[in-house]
Amino acid sequence: MNRREMIGVTASGLGALFHGMAEASENTVTGSKQPDVLAWERKVPLRWDTDIVVVGGGMAGVGAAAAAARTGARVLLVERFAVTGGMLTVGGVANFCGDMEGQGEVFDEILEDLHKWKALGGPSRDSVFHYETLAFVLQELLLRRDVKLLLHTRFVDLRVTNGNITELLLYGTSGLEAVRTRQVIDCTGEGDVARAAGFSVMKGRNQDGLQLPMSMMYFVRHVQEEGHGPLLPEGWLTPVETKEDLPMTSIWPDGPGANAIKVKVPAFDSTDTESLTAAEIAARRRIREVMHYHQSVEKRPWILDHCSPIIGIREGVRILGDYVLTVEDLRAGKRFEDGIARGCYELDGHKPDDEKRTYILPEEERTVPPYQIPLRSLIAKEGNNLLMAGRCFSADQLALSSARVSTTACMMGQAAGIAAALAVQKGTDLRNVDPKEVQEEIRKRGAVLDL
Ligand SMILES: Cc1cc2nc3c(=O)[nH]c(=O)nc-3n(C[C@H](O)[C@H](O)[C@H](O)COP(=O)(O)OP(=O)(O)OC[C@H]3O[C@@H](n4cnc5c(N)ncnc54)[C@H](O)[C@@H]3O)c2cc1C
Repeated sequence: MNRREMIGVTASGLGALFHGMAEASENTVTGSKQPDVLAWERKVPLRWDTDIVVVGGGMAGVGAAAAAARTGARVLLVERFAVTGGMLTVGGVANFCGDMEGQGEVFDEILEDLHKWKALGGPSRDSVFHYETLAFVLQELLLRRDVKLLLHTRFVDLRVTNGNITELLLYGTSGLEAVRTRQVIDCTGEGDVARAAGFSVMKGRNQDGLQLPMSMMYFVRHVQEEGHGPLLPEGWLTPVETKEDLPMTSIWPDGPGANAIKVKVPAFDSTDTESLTAAEIAARRRIREVMHYHQSVEKRPWILDHCSPIIGIREGVRILGDYVLTVEDLRAGKRFEDGIARGCYELDGHKPDDEKRTYILPEEERTVPPYQIPLRSLIAKEGNNLLMAGRCFSADQLALSSARVSTTACMMGQAAGIAAALAVQKGTDLRNVDPKEVQEEIRKRGAVLDL
């Protein structure tokens, strides 16, 4: 018998993982839209006890974990893939948008390390980087700060009592295990922690919930002979034959003799198991059709090297916070009493329902002045100890279209990590942490909050 403490977990509200299975069988048998509900109990080893759990190791999660750990807090970072970096590594997005200066010491250290490994900047842009090196640099940064890193580990459920999350249920290669914690930071992008807790989330555009569209990144190598790659076999898919038929396709540098290419795949839901599956399938098909155009029509000497392991997700859900940052706040270049991060990137709202290079707003309405993000938009309204940062913070869709960029996501993460660590240090509720103290610490760490 394992000597670790065991906690009882009731698995009725376990969420998508189990609902999805029940729904599929119910639909097949009866056609009903109402999923069955399963309930059972089991005992799970309580393997870890920590101060702060950060769920999701993208730029927001790395920022949060690294900043919190620097205060001396015990921090556990849970990441479902083999590497951290999220969209920037497994999503293949190898470019920083937004302001690369004044983001604070976590981002500064990442840049410095990328420089040391000669992995930042290319002939056309200073902001592109080698994403495998970023994955390496991030893991080393976290380990230097004594963050307890769990890879291949997925957050699946939690226990919440009177708005306090007390334990999280994780699924890693050793099976289901639990962690007890004081503070939690949701950096999953899809708001997995908030959704499992039953806290309110916002998704997509108002009229139909459609999220900003996904795009798949894929990578090609240049070869000597033209048409060297595997062209579309007869009868497979619908090859793109003209430029007009191309979906939004962006061609990026990827070092010598290679390119990274991004293809828009709209109108899927990143929070629905079946829809995300369909998006991945559609993306891999579309890539073949677009490759046909580049290889056979434009005669580019390219072969497909690989697709990113996960489709690029711009928007998951936005967790309802104490404050919802709006596009009007951005347009006004708003400052807040509790401003803890700064954004400046344009309103990059790709239109959710077509595959062309279309935007929600006309070009002349996309620029915004620098703006602040308040601490209140990083605190989940219906919880006492849940913060969020990055793609799932509390904002409307257009505000998110700017603030989601990796630089700002990291800065938000840094602020969430500092706020959580202060709450732990003082043994107090998140809302009793003085935002001025958070700001002071952020400034001490080299971040510029002034606009
Ligand atoms: C196609 C595309 C192009 C983009 N281009 C740019 C660009 O050029 N420059 C730029 O700055 N930004 C760009 N962005 C935006 C930017 O990449 C992301 O918005 C930003 O990196 C988000 O960081 P994040 O940490 O919030 O989320 P993510 O990077 O999505 O990280 C979330 C992490 O949580 C993990 N996770 C999720 N659920 C769980 C769970 N249940 N358990 C454990 N782990 C979990 C994921 O594996 C992931 O590592 C682009 C985005 C897309 C999709």
